[in-house]
Amino acid sequence: MLPGFTLPWSTNTEDLRRGSGQILRQLSGFPFQLSLPFERLAAHQSCPPDSLVRTWVRGQEKVCSAPRMIPLLQVQDLHVAYISRAGKESPALAGVGFDVRPGETLGVLGESGSGKSTLALALPRLLPGNAEIQKGVILFEGQDLLRAEPRALERIRGARISLTFQEPSLALHPTIRIGGQIGDVLAAHESLSGGALRRRVLQLLAEVFPGDPERIADSYPHQLSGGQQQRVLIAQAIACGPSLIVADEPTASLDPTTQQDIIGLFRTLREKFNLSLILITHNPALLAGLADRILVLYAGKVVEIGSTEQVLTLPQHPYTLALLQSVPGRLDEPAKGRKSRLPVIPGEAPNLAALANGCRFAARCADRMELCTKREPAAVAVSEAHAVACFKYGG
Ligand code: ATP
Ligand code: MG
Repeated sequence: MLPGFTLPWSTNTEDLRRGSGQILRQLSGFPFQLSLPFERLAAHQSCPPDSLVRTWVRGQEKVCSAPRMIPLLQVQDLHVAYISRAGKESPALAGVGFDVRPGETLGVLGESGSGKSTLALALPRLLPGNAEIQKGVILFEGQDLLRAEPRALERIRGARISLTFQEPSLALHPTIRIGGQIGDVLAAHESLSGGALRRRVLQLLAEVFPGDPERIADSYPHQLSGGQQQRVLIAQAIACGPSLIVADEPTASLDPTTQQDIIGLFRTLREKFNLSLILITHNPALLAGLADRILVLYAGKVVEIGSTEQVLTLPQHPYTLALLQSVPGRLDEPAKGRKSRLPVIPGEAPNLAALANGCRFAARCADRMELCTKREPAAVAVSEAHAVACFKYGG
């Protein structure tokens, strides 16, 4: 595991979840609004007085007291590679480490090819046959998933960890009615049949389609819009009462209004069922009102992790900064003139099968130093629970 990335959490999730008053404020130099419950922000800024947390602030150790919460999920030093038919290895994740606390929402941000889906599939051990988990630990509810027996994994998948896939139209069977597809998920984990199964299906659909569950249950996937299909996947994901949902780009193919509806639905379900969420996206704006923390993935490595406020308002890694600057502004922002162009990150993501020495972002980095091409930076905590893998901070 990268030293420093699994930092002791200094805030109590219950305190965070209690927040209801929303503050909405314009972030200077940032193109969209951040909406976080006020109490969540307050909790991020203080350390309650009953256990020990150490942080390193620019080289100086600061000790403050805070309750430690046992993580629901701990991922340590996870290495995944895809192996070609000729036996050539192409690493997709290289030493990824993080944790997720009960009730917490972790946003995973990264551009295409950074390894987001590989991570999502690796957690419940659903990677394709040509992928190899080469190293690491995935501890979920105290169980080491990389060493779990196939039967134990079957009991966990769908029931304790659910995954929603990137493309709903591919995840749903085209010739089975929605009610049947949700019933299949329930039947895989619970002994329900006939009327009881149908009632549970309708209850679940009512969670995601208030007022219209019967019609949806009797529809085929092609009779639903993209947003409705995504809601069906979410109903499947909550069917067996999981504690963790991993949602891989749940809004990628949806229009902005429907994206916000889906994010709102996750927010509601998270509160109602006390869910932890890993929400994967390449769009930081989606994480602003939902995630407690954000992990930024670049070329299979965690380059930054911190609270949503820290990462979105004070991004420290040059990649995070460039990524945030390349997000289009809000639609209600005044037009800046026809000549203003959205900044793009220069260059391309590295070929993971032929990586050069040094930091993976070095070739595209505006702040590149000589050291950056020599070796990879380690993660350094730049403030409480905010870590960055960049030589600018010591690395
Ligand atoms: P996107 O945003 O486009 O969905 P991602 O961040 O989810 O991208 P992954 O799909 O995890 O990225 O891919 C990470 C790397 O692994 C890429 O280099 C990709 O080409 C490779 N990869 C992914 N799936 C496979 C596969 N089944 N076989 C071989 N290589 C793969
Ligand atoms: Mg993906």
